[in-house]
Amino acid sequence: MDSFFVEGARVWLRHKEQLLPSTVSSCDDLCLVLGTEYGKVVHLQREDLSRETVFLMHPSSIHGVEDMSTLAELHEAAIMYNLFTRYQKNNIYTNIGSILAAVNPYKQIAGLYDSTAVDLYSKHQMGELPPHIFAVANECYRCLWKRHDSQCVLISGESGAGKTESTKLLLKFLSVMSQNSAGTPPSERTTRVEQAIVQSSPIMEAFGNAKTVYNNNSSRFGKFIQLHFSQSGHIQGGCIIDYLLEKNRVVRQNPGERNYHIFYALLAGADRDHRDMYLLSEDPELYYYLSQSGCVHDSSLDDKQLFNSVMEALKVMEFTEEEIRDVFKLLSAVLQMGNIEFMTAGGAQITSKGVVSNVSELLGLDSFQLSEVLTQRSMILRGEEICSPLTVEQAVDSRDSVAMALYSQCFSWIIMRINQKIKGRDNFKSIGILDIFGFENFEVNRFEQFNINYANEKLQEYFNKHIFSLEQLEYNREGIQWEAIDWMDNAECLDLIEKKLGMLALINEESRFPKGTDYTLLEKLHSRHAANPYYVKPRVTDHQFGIKHYAGEVLYDVRGILEKNRDTFRDDILFILKDSRLDFIYDLFERVGSRSGDETLKMGTARRKPTVSSQFRDSLHSLMATLSASNPFFVRCIKPNMDKKANQFDPDIVLNQLKYSGMLETVKIRKAGFPVRRTFKDFYSRYKMLLKNKTRSDDEKQRCSEIFLLLDNDKKEWKLGKTKSGVTVIPKQPPVA
Ligand code: ATP
Ligand code: MG
Repeated sequence: MDSFFVEGARVWLRHKEQLLPSTVSSCDDLCLVLGTEYGKVVHLQREDLSRETVFLMHPSSIHGVEDMSTLAELHEAAIMYNLFTRYQKNNIYTNIGSILAAVNPYKQIAGLYDSTAVDLYSKHQMGELPPHIFAVANECYRCLWKRHDSQCVLISGESGAGKTESTKLLLKFLSVMSQNSAGTPPSERTTRVEQAIVQSSPIMEAFGNAKTVYNNNSSRFGKFIQLHFSQSGHIQGGCIIDYLLEKNRVVRQNPGERNYHIFYALLAGADRDHRDMYLLSEDPELYYYLSQSGCVHDSSLDDKQLFNSVMEALKVMEFTEEEIRDVFKLLSAVLQMGNIEFMTAGGAQITSKGVVSNVSELLGLDSFQLSEVLTQRSMILRGEEICSPLTVEQAVDSRDSVAMALYSQCFSWIIMRINQKIKGRDNFKSIGILDIFGFENFEVNRFEQFNINYANEKLQEYFNKHIFSLEQLEYNREGIQWEAIDWMDNAECLDLIEKKLGMLALINEESRFPKGTDYTLLEKLHSRHAANPYYVKPRVTDHQFGIKHYAGEVLYDVRGILEKNRDTFRDDILFILKDSRLDFIYDLFERVGSRSGDETLKMGTARRKPTVSSQFRDSLHSLMATLSASNPFFVRCIKPNMDKKANQFDPDIVLNQLKYSGMLETVKIRKAGFPVRRTFKDFYSRYKMLLKNKTRSDDEKQRCSEIFLLLDNDKKEWKLGKTKSGVTVIPKQPPVA
């Protein structure tokens, strides 16, 4: 053992490729005993010990730092340990350069977000106070005027990490700033818009969030909220764009999960008169779409309370009573739709006629026509109508497709109404907040995960470009020549997905092809891309393809992709919905395009519906264009454990998120250059003993240069800037005092 460690010394232990922060419990000639901070005790024999397996921790790692880029040791273990020590002290926010890391505390931390905190952060510049989501919001607001460009905050993290809570905190802070803006007092209109923007959250959450195994209030759609500011600093208007609502949830949920909150809220909150009007019972167990997952209640969710807050929000947003009634009738129709049952008698027959008549009444449809369309399919072929009976399975599918279409059209309508309400007139610059699904890799990954991961790949590209250019700036500031740095670029993976003849193009081509099936698609994907290093052709399975994403390899199940991508709705069903006596239902479907299959097109009504992935690609590209014209801030939300528990930090779970949050990527970009950056003073005081008092210079920079020359005479591994020195690796540590 060439170094002796004093008891209580803080060290890094290299253990199975990982560095574990540890404390020396005892150290003698034979053995070193360490306790890791994550709860393990390790005994090391003297002969096992080399300088690499245990080495001293830098004081910045021991005490924790508010900004990770000031950590002297820049590796993933140090980053994680810093998060851990801060989390233990309820400091859930940490900066990592220009990124804010936020660890979900799963508890209320006293005073963290109250009006005193808002006030405090609004009066200080970034860096003057501990890291905080309000500091980001404040900096965003200041930058509007300082830089005269639009700002955006990109919030990412996995399900349950705290993205939506962070979004709401940003909105809260910005709306207070708008209220208190030093210019003219806010007009009545401004105040109404601010209120409406804040109140849009409970409505969107009620209709777009649900309990999942990962999060009791999981957003099942992505959103980009833009706030438009006037020259005087007030919020003048806003705009919300939604992405990919998970439609399937309306008709199917995994065990232990729930349907969208609004259904339970409606049943729990509507009074008897309203329930009579909507033909509803109050027991969720009675509805198949709510009861099938075996979970209708959750102790953390108060459905009645949610109903009240949604009603209040709808009123603030000036939804009329008639509109609210129309929406609730639609929701009731969806619920009852799920209770329509079928049996086989020369094709599917409906066994629950009473339910069909309720649904028809609620939707303003003809009951006979609805029954027909659910049990048989009619097509116009060469001017003649041809009917063919459906099997029970097909009938259930058609029933579910109507329920999903009703709900998703209603969701889009609500977003459209919110947008009408918050639409601004003159806008100066905007702040955009993106609360979008993080990277996903489940046991089975489908079309939804493909789209989500594609979106994340795009955001990662944007992130890399930004971080990279910041890095370049630091080099310029220090007057160091910028040489091409080799870092992980995801352009090739994105090319595989979206370039000409890429995967998206193939999926779309096959979707348009009437005879295309999931398997013909898979064959084409394999034959076109098998040689691409980012494409994975699994050896054993015959229904999967894979992509090597920046965050790891994901295998996707091809089954169901074409149908989901086509997202077609039978024309005969569409026609009867458009035939509704209710304006609301008619309006919802008026603009829905026909299916693309040629055999069902009626003369003159043909309109090719874009596929889901091409719509999503277009909306992503337009989002990227907006983001590229804005100055970005990044918030990376981190989930400390899978149990939704306070005070529990699971290092494996956190490390996994750090890997695909881009934070380690930032570190990599730094490492590719001269990652260990210390001011001359700091560097000299730490390593001066290497000079053995032989220095002749009084100049700090010169002294540092002397130390470096001792270590590397070729000047390859280090550079001196104007204020800092940069080294490729941490110099060998001087022996411990
Ligand atoms: P999803 O992708 O599923 O929508 P999410 O990242 O939006 O997940 P949130 O809904 O924001 O996650 O957070 C999940 C839960 O974690 C919240 O309901 C809340 O209980 C808790 N939580 C998140 N952030 C905070 C915070 N800053 N303070 C206290 N609790 C929080
Ligand atoms: Mg969310």
